[in-house]
Amino acid sequence: MADRTVLMIPGPIELDADVLGALAQPQRGHMDGVFAKAFGRALGRVREVFLAPSAQPFVIAGSGTLAMEIATANLIDPGDRAVVVNTGYFGDRMRAILERQGARVDEVRAPLGEVPDTGALERALASAPAKLVAVTHVDTSTGVRAPIEDVARVAREHGALTVVDGVCSVGGEELRQEAWGIDVVLTASQKALGAPPGLALVVASPRALAARRAKKVPVASLYLDFLEWLPIMESYEKGAPQYFATPPTNLVLALDVSLGQLVAEGMDARFVRHARQAGAFRAACRALELSMLPAREAIAANTLSAFYYPSGVDAALVGRVRSEGIIMAGGLHPDAKTKYFRVGHMGVMTASDILAAVAALERGLIASGYRFEPGIGVATAQRHLSAR
Ligand code: PMP
Repeated sequence: MADRTVLMIPGPIELDADVLGALAQPQRGHMDGVFAKAFGRALGRVREVFLAPSAQPFVIAGSGTLAMEIATANLIDPGDRAVVVNTGYFGDRMRAILERQGARVDEVRAPLGEVPDTGALERALASAPAKLVAVTHVDTSTGVRAPIEDVARVAREHGALTVVDGVCSVGGEELRQEAWGIDVVLTASQKALGAPPGLALVVASPRALAARRAKKVPVASLYLDFLEWLPIMESYEKGAPQYFATPPTNLVLALDVSLGQLVAEGMDARFVRHARQAGAFRAACRALELSMLPAREAIAANTLSAFYYPSGVDAALVGRVRSEGIIMAGGLHPDAKTKYFRVGHMGVMTASDILAAVAALERGLIASGYRFEPGIGVATAQRHLSAR
Protein backbone atom coordinates (compact mmCIF):
# COMPACT_ATOMS: atom_id res chain seq x y z
CA MET A 1 0.00 0.00 0.00
CA ALA A 2 1.20 3.51 -0.73
CA ASP A 3 2.76 5.31 2.21
CA ARG A 4 -0.01 7.83 2.84
CA THR A 5 0.80 10.13 5.73
CA VAL A 6 -0.33 13.44 7.17
CA LEU A 7 2.49 15.82 8.07
CA MET A 8 1.67 17.12 11.56
CA ILE A 9 5.04 18.38 12.74
CA PRO A 10 5.17 22.04 13.80
CA GLY A 11 6.20 23.10 10.28
CA PRO A 12 6.57 22.59 7.44
CA ILE A 13 2.91 21.62 7.19
CA GLU A 14 0.54 19.94 4.73
CA LEU A 15 -0.09 22.17 1.70
CA ASP A 16 -3.36 22.88 -0.05
CA ALA A 17 -3.60 21.56 -3.63
CA ASP A 18 -3.91 25.07 -5.10
CA VAL A 19 -0.73 26.13 -3.29
CA LEU A 20 1.08 23.10 -4.72
CA GLY A 21 -0.34 23.97 -8.14
CA ALA A 22 1.20 27.45 -7.97
CA LEU A 23 4.62 25.86 -7.44
CA ALA A 24 4.24 23.87 -10.64
CA GLN A 25 3.55 26.87 -12.89
CA PRO A 26 6.01 27.45 -15.74
CA GLN A 27 8.99 29.51 -14.62
CA ARG A 28 8.54 33.25 -15.09
CA GLY A 29 11.19 35.90 -14.78
CA HIS A 30 11.20 38.16 -11.75
CA MET A 31 10.59 41.16 -14.05
CA ASP A 32 7.55 39.50 -15.61
CA GLY A 33 4.34 41.54 -15.32
CA VAL A 34 2.17 38.63 -14.19
CA PHE A 35 4.66 37.75 -11.46
CA ALA A 36 4.92 41.39 -10.34
CA LYS A 37 1.14 41.60 -10.01
CA ALA A 38 1.04 38.41 -7.90
CA PHE A 39 3.92 39.63 -5.71
CA GLY A 40 2.16 42.96 -5.19
CA ARG A 41 -1.07 41.19 -4.24
CA ALA A 42 0.84 38.94 -1.82
CA LEU A 43 2.37 41.98 -0.11
CA GLY A 44 -1.08 43.52 0.31
CA ARG A 45 -2.30 40.22 1.77
CA VAL A 46 0.62 40.20 4.22
CA ARG A 47 -0.78 43.46 5.64
CA GLU A 48 -4.19 41.81 6.07
CA VAL A 49 -2.85 38.62 7.66
CA PHE A 50 -0.56 40.44 10.11
CA LEU A 51 -3.36 42.98 10.79
CA ALA A 52 -0.75 45.55 9.89
CA PRO A 53 -2.41 48.15 7.65
CA SER A 54 0.24 50.87 8.13
CA ALA A 55 3.35 48.70 8.44
CA GLN A 56 5.78 47.88 5.65
CA PRO A 57 5.87 44.23 4.56
CA PHE A 58 9.09 42.58 3.37
CA VAL A 59 9.05 39.14 1.70
CA ILE A 60 12.58 37.87 1.13
CA ALA A 61 14.11 34.52 0.14
CA GLY A 62 15.29 32.77 3.28
CA SER A 63 14.01 30.97 6.35
CA GLY A 64 12.67 32.19 9.69
CA THR A 65 16.18 32.60 11.04
CA LEU A 66 16.91 35.11 8.28
CA ALA A 67 13.74 36.97 9.27
CA MET A 68 15.04 37.12 12.85
CA GLU A 69 18.34 38.55 11.62
CA ILE A 70 16.64 41.11 9.37
CA ALA A 71 14.34 42.27 12.19
CA THR A 72 17.15 42.90 14.65
CA ALA A 73 19.97 44.02 12.32
CA ASN A 74 17.91 47.04 11.31
CA LEU A 75 17.31 48.22 14.87
CA ILE A 76 20.47 47.44 16.82
CA ASP A 77 23.70 49.43 16.88
CA PRO A 78 26.72 47.81 18.54
CA GLY A 79 26.53 48.42 22.29
CA ASP A 80 22.74 48.87 22.40
CA ARG A 81 20.97 46.98 25.17
CA ALA A 82 18.35 44.41 24.21
CA VAL A 83 16.09 42.38 26.47
CA VAL A 84 14.98 38.92 25.35
CA VAL A 85 11.83 37.46 26.87
CA ASN A 86 13.01 33.87 26.66
CA THR A 87 10.59 30.93 26.72
CA GLY A 88 12.80 28.32 25.06
CA TYR A 89 14.97 27.26 22.16
CA PHE A 90 14.09 30.14 19.84
CA GLY A 91 14.61 32.71 22.59
CA ASP A 92 18.12 31.31 22.90
CA ARG A 93 18.55 31.75 19.14
CA MET A 94 17.31 35.35 19.32
CA ARG A 95 19.84 36.05 22.04
CA ALA A 96 22.67 34.54 19.92
CA ILE A 97 21.65 36.66 16.91
CA LEU A 98 21.51 39.87 18.94
CA GLU A 99 24.91 39.13 20.47
CA ARG A 100 26.43 38.57 17.01
CA GLN A 101 25.07 41.99 16.07
CA GLY A 102 26.89 43.57 19.00
CA ALA A 103 23.96 44.06 21.37
CA ARG A 104 24.32 43.78 25.14
CA VAL A 105 21.65 41.21 25.91
CA ASP A 106 19.75 40.65 29.13
CA GLU A 107 17.13 37.99 29.47
CA VAL A 108 13.89 37.60 31.31
CA ARG A 109 13.45 33.85 31.58
CA ALA A 110 10.81 31.49 32.86
CA PRO A 111 11.10 27.88 33.97
CA LEU A 112 10.37 25.26 31.29
CA GLY A 113 6.69 25.39 30.35
CA GLU A 114 6.07 28.81 31.88
CA VAL A 115 6.08 32.41 30.63
CA PRO A 116 7.96 35.20 32.39
CA ASP A 117 5.65 37.60 34.23
CA THR A 118 5.44 41.13 32.95
CA GLY A 119 6.63 42.42 36.35
CA ALA A 120 10.03 40.85 35.66
CA LEU A 121 10.14 42.60 32.28
CA GLU A 122 9.14 45.90 33.94
CA ARG A 123 12.01 45.53 36.39
CA ALA A 124 14.50 44.66 33.64
CA LEU A 125 13.47 47.75 31.66
CA ALA A 126 13.32 50.04 34.70
CA SER A 127 16.87 49.08 35.71
CA ALA A 128 18.41 50.47 32.50
CA PRO A 129 17.12 51.70 29.12
CA ALA A 130 16.87 49.14 26.30
CA LYS A 131 16.67 49.70 22.56
CA LEU A 132 14.47 46.67 21.98
CA VAL A 133 12.57 43.85 23.57
CA ALA A 134 12.41 40.59 21.64
CA VAL A 135 9.87 37.88 22.37
CA THR A 136 8.89 34.58 20.76
CA HIS A 137 5.10 34.48 20.40
CA VAL A 138 4.89 30.68 20.32
CA ASP A 139 8.06 28.87 21.24
CA THR A 140 8.00 25.82 18.99
CA SER A 141 10.22 23.93 21.40
CA THR A 142 7.70 24.12 24.26
CA GLY A 143 4.28 24.94 22.79
CA VAL A 144 4.13 27.91 25.17
CA ARG A 145 2.45 31.12 23.98
CA ALA A 146 3.81 34.36 25.43
CA PRO A 147 1.54 37.35 26.23
CA ILE A 148 2.94 39.55 23.45
CA GLU A 149 0.29 42.27 23.76
CA ASP A 150 1.43 42.88 27.37
CA VAL A 151 5.10 42.64 26.40
CA ALA A 152 4.61 45.27 23.67
CA ARG A 153 2.77 47.58 26.08
CA VAL A 154 5.45 47.36 28.76
CA ALA A 155 8.22 47.82 26.17
CA ARG A 156 6.50 50.90 24.75
CA GLU A 157 6.03 52.40 28.22
CA HIS A 158 9.80 52.13 28.66
CA GLY A 159 10.65 53.55 25.23
CA ALA A 160 11.82 50.23 23.74
CA LEU A 161 10.93 48.77 20.35
CA THR A 162 9.28 45.34 20.27
CA VAL A 163 10.30 42.51 17.96
CA VAL A 164 7.95 39.50 17.91
CA ASP A 165 9.14 36.19 16.51
CA GLY A 166 5.87 34.94 15.08
CA VAL A 167 7.35 32.05 13.10
CA CYS A 168 5.10 29.53 14.84
CA SER A 169 2.14 31.85 15.32
CA VAL A 170 1.35 34.23 12.46
CA GLY A 171 -1.72 32.93 10.63
CA GLY A 172 -2.80 30.66 13.49
CA GLU A 173 -2.65 32.65 16.74
CA GLU A 174 -4.33 35.98 17.34
CA LEU A 175 -1.72 38.62 16.56
CA ARG A 176 -2.68 42.23 15.81
CA GLN A 177 0.46 44.10 14.85
CA GLU A 178 -1.01 47.59 14.68
CA ALA A 179 -3.62 47.38 17.43
CA TRP A 180 -1.09 45.85 19.83
CA GLY A 181 1.62 48.38 18.94
CA ILE A 182 4.26 45.83 17.90
CA ASP A 183 7.14 47.35 15.94
CA VAL A 184 8.40 44.34 14.02
CA VAL A 185 6.69 40.99 13.48
CA LEU A 186 8.55 38.27 11.63
CA THR A 187 7.63 34.86 10.36
CA ALA A 188 8.47 32.26 7.74
CA SER A 189 6.34 30.76 4.99
CA GLN A 190 6.24 27.12 6.14
CA LYS A 191 4.02 27.17 9.20
CA ALA A 192 0.56 28.64 9.76
CA LEU A 193 0.85 30.63 6.51
CA GLY A 194 0.49 27.35 4.63
CA ALA A 195 3.25 27.74 2.01
CA PRO A 196 6.47 25.78 1.49
CA PRO A 197 9.64 26.73 3.38
CA GLY A 198 11.88 29.34 1.76
CA LEU A 199 10.44 32.79 2.46
CA ALA A 200 11.20 35.14 5.33
CA LEU A 201 8.40 37.63 6.08
CA VAL A 202 8.91 40.75 8.15
CA VAL A 203 6.54 43.65 8.79
CA ALA A 204 7.99 46.85 10.18
CA SER A 205 6.02 49.68 11.76
CA PRO A 206 6.74 53.31 10.79
CA ARG A 207 8.54 53.59 14.16
CA ALA A 208 10.79 50.64 13.25
CA LEU A 209 11.63 52.15 9.85
CA ALA A 210 12.44 55.45 11.57
CA ALA A 211 14.72 53.56 13.98
CA ARG A 212 16.51 52.00 10.98
CA ARG A 213 17.02 55.45 9.45
CA ALA A 214 18.34 56.74 12.77
CA LYS A 215 20.91 53.94 13.13
CA LYS A 216 24.41 55.22 13.81
CA VAL A 217 26.22 52.57 11.78
CA PRO A 218 24.94 51.02 8.54
CA VAL A 219 23.51 47.51 8.58
CA ALA A 220 26.61 45.34 8.09
CA SER A 221 24.93 43.06 5.54
CA LEU A 222 23.45 44.44 2.32
CA TYR A 223 20.92 41.58 2.13
CA LEU A 224 19.57 42.29 5.65
CA ASP A 225 19.05 46.02 5.15
CA PHE A 226 15.44 47.29 5.14
CA LEU A 227 16.54 50.28 3.10
CA GLU A 228 17.88 48.13 0.24
CA TRP A 229 14.57 46.22 0.08
CA LEU A 230 12.17 49.10 0.70
CA PRO A 231 12.03 50.48 -2.88
CA ILE A 232 11.73 46.92 -4.20
CA MET A 233 8.77 46.06 -1.98
CA GLU A 234 7.10 49.42 -2.66
CA SER A 235 7.49 48.91 -6.39
CA TYR A 236 6.16 45.34 -6.43
CA GLU A 237 3.25 46.36 -4.22
CA LYS A 238 2.29 48.78 -7.01
CA GLY A 239 2.58 45.86 -9.47
CA ALA A 240 5.85 47.07 -11.02
CA PRO A 241 8.90 44.81 -10.93
CA GLN A 242 12.22 46.10 -9.63
CA TYR A 243 15.47 44.23 -9.07
CA PHE A 244 17.68 43.99 -6.01
CA ALA A 245 18.16 40.24 -5.49
CA THR A 246 16.25 37.56 -7.40
CA PRO A 247 13.04 36.54 -5.62
CA PRO A 248 12.10 32.82 -5.58
CA THR A 249 9.29 33.43 -8.03
CA ASN A 250 7.25 30.24 -7.68
CA LEU A 251 7.46 30.35 -3.89
CA VAL A 252 6.06 33.88 -4.02
CA LEU A 253 3.24 32.65 -6.30
CA ALA A 254 2.49 29.86 -3.81
CA LEU A 255 2.54 32.32 -0.91
CA ASP A 256 0.12 34.59 -2.76
CA VAL A 257 -2.32 31.69 -3.15
CA SER A 258 -2.02 30.58 0.47
CA LEU A 259 -2.38 34.13 1.83
CA GLY A 260 -5.45 34.53 -0.40
CA GLN A 261 -6.93 31.50 1.35
CA LEU A 262 -6.20 32.98 4.79
CA VAL A 263 -7.82 36.27 3.85
CA ALA A 264 -10.86 34.44 2.44
CA GLU A 265 -11.26 32.45 5.65
CA GLY A 266 -10.94 35.69 7.64
CA MET A 267 -8.36 36.16 10.37
CA ASP A 268 -10.84 36.12 13.26
CA ALA A 269 -12.48 32.93 11.98
CA ARG A 270 -9.04 31.41 11.51
CA PHE A 271 -7.95 32.21 15.08
CA VAL A 272 -11.17 30.64 16.40
CA ARG A 273 -10.74 27.51 14.25
CA HIS A 274 -7.15 26.99 15.41
CA ALA A 275 -8.19 27.47 19.05
CA ARG A 276 -11.03 24.99 18.67
CA GLN A 277 -8.95 22.30 16.97
CA ALA A 278 -6.03 22.74 19.37
CA GLY A 279 -8.42 22.67 22.33
CA ALA A 280 -9.85 19.37 21.07
CA PHE A 281 -6.37 17.86 20.69
CA ARG A 282 -5.34 18.95 24.19
CA ALA A 283 -8.59 17.67 25.70
CA ALA A 284 -7.97 14.29 24.03
CA CYS A 285 -4.44 14.10 25.44
CA ARG A 286 -5.73 14.98 28.90
CA ALA A 287 -8.33 12.21 28.61
CA LEU A 288 -5.42 9.89 27.82
CA GLU A 289 -3.83 11.15 31.06
CA LEU A 290 -0.82 12.66 29.34
CA SER A 291 0.70 15.75 30.93
CA MET A 292 1.16 18.89 28.96
CA LEU A 293 4.50 20.70 28.74
CA PRO A 294 2.97 24.21 28.93
CA ALA A 295 2.11 24.77 32.58
CA ARG A 296 -1.45 25.96 31.96
CA GLU A 297 -4.19 25.83 29.34
CA ALA A 298 -4.14 29.66 29.11
CA ILE A 299 -0.54 29.68 27.82
CA ALA A 300 -0.80 26.60 25.60
CA ALA A 301 -0.35 27.43 21.92
CA ASN A 302 -3.02 26.73 19.34
CA THR A 303 -0.57 26.02 16.53
CA LEU A 304 1.15 23.04 18.16
CA SER A 305 0.80 20.90 21.27
CA ALA A 306 3.60 19.48 23.41
CA PHE A 307 2.92 16.57 25.79
CA TYR A 308 5.24 14.42 27.90
CA TYR A 309 5.51 10.71 27.14
CA PRO A 310 3.69 8.85 29.90
CA SER A 311 5.67 6.62 32.22
CA GLY A 312 7.04 3.54 30.41
CA VAL A 313 6.79 5.18 26.96
CA ASP A 314 9.72 6.79 25.14
CA ALA A 315 10.52 8.55 21.86
CA ALA A 316 9.85 5.31 19.95
CA LEU A 317 6.22 6.47 20.15
CA VAL A 318 6.91 8.98 17.36
CA GLY A 319 7.91 6.14 14.98
CA ARG A 320 4.88 4.07 15.99
CA VAL A 321 2.51 6.95 15.33
CA ARG A 322 4.25 7.52 12.00
CA SER A 323 3.54 3.95 10.98
CA GLU A 324 -0.12 4.75 11.75
CA GLY A 325 0.03 7.55 9.18
CA ILE A 326 0.59 10.67 11.28
CA ILE A 327 3.99 12.36 11.28
CA MET A 328 4.59 14.13 14.57
CA ALA A 329 7.82 15.44 16.09
CA GLY A 330 9.90 14.58 19.13
CA GLY A 331 11.14 17.09 21.69
CA LEU A 332 13.45 20.04 20.98
CA HIS A 333 14.08 21.94 24.21
CA PRO A 334 17.52 20.90 25.51
CA ASP A 335 16.24 20.43 29.10
CA ALA A 336 13.64 17.81 28.14
CA LYS A 337 14.35 16.78 24.54
CA THR A 338 13.81 13.03 25.04
CA LYS A 339 10.79 13.37 27.31
CA TYR A 340 8.04 14.82 25.14
CA PHE A 341 6.51 14.96 21.68
CA ARG A 342 5.03 17.75 19.60
CA VAL A 343 2.10 17.77 17.20
CA GLY A 344 1.48 20.66 14.81
CA HIS A 345 -2.13 21.48 14.00
CA MET A 346 -2.10 24.56 11.84
CA GLY A 347 -3.05 25.70 8.36
CA VAL A 348 -5.33 23.46 6.32
CA MET A 349 -5.85 20.97 9.18
CA THR A 350 -9.47 19.92 9.53
CA ALA A 351 -11.42 18.54 12.48
CA SER A 352 -11.12 15.13 10.84
CA ASP A 353 -7.32 15.46 10.73
CA ILE A 354 -7.38 16.14 14.48
CA LEU A 355 -9.44 13.00 15.05
CA ALA A 356 -7.10 10.97 12.84
CA ALA A 357 -4.10 12.26 14.79
CA VAL A 358 -5.65 11.36 18.14
CA ALA A 359 -6.59 7.90 16.83
CA ALA A 360 -3.05 7.30 15.54
CA LEU A 361 -1.64 8.54 18.86
CA GLU A 362 -3.88 6.06 20.69
CA ARG A 363 -2.69 3.17 18.50
CA GLY A 364 0.92 4.23 19.01
CA LEU A 365 0.38 4.32 22.78
CA ILE A 366 -1.23 0.86 22.74
CA ALA A 367 1.75 -0.49 20.75
CA SER A 368 4.02 1.11 23.38
CA GLY A 369 2.32 -0.87 26.16
CA TYR A 370 0.51 2.13 27.71
CA ARG A 371 -2.80 1.20 29.29
CA PHE A 372 -5.93 3.30 28.86
CA GLU A 373 -9.48 2.86 27.61
CA PRO A 374 -9.08 2.72 23.79
CA GLY A 375 -11.15 5.41 22.09
CA ILE A 376 -11.38 7.72 25.08
CA GLY A 377 -9.14 10.34 23.43
CA VAL A 378 -11.03 10.17 20.14
CA ALA A 379 -14.41 10.44 21.91
CA THR A 380 -13.21 13.43 23.91
CA ALA A 381 -11.88 15.23 20.82
CA GLN A 382 -15.10 14.40 18.94
CA ARG A 383 -17.24 15.89 21.72
CA HIS A 384 -15.05 18.98 21.80
CA LEU A 385 -15.18 19.45 18.01
CA SER A 386 -18.94 18.85 17.86
CA ALA A 387 -19.85 21.22 20.73
CA ARG A 388 -21.84 24.26 19.61
N1 PMP B 1 11.44 30.92 15.50
C1 PMP B 1 10.55 29.98 15.78
C2 PMP B 1 9.53 30.24 16.84
C3 PMP B 1 10.55 28.79 15.05
O1 PMP B 1 9.65 27.85 15.30
C4 PMP B 1 11.51 28.59 14.03
C5 PMP B 1 11.56 27.31 13.21
N2 PMP B 1 11.07 26.19 13.80
C6 PMP B 1 12.43 29.61 13.80
C7 PMP B 1 12.37 30.76 14.54
C8 PMP B 1 13.50 29.48 12.77
O2 PMP B 1 12.93 29.34 11.51
P1 PMP B 1 13.67 28.57 10.34
O3 PMP B 1 13.85 27.16 10.77
O4 PMP B 1 12.71 28.71 9.19
O5 PMP B 1 14.96 29.26 10.12
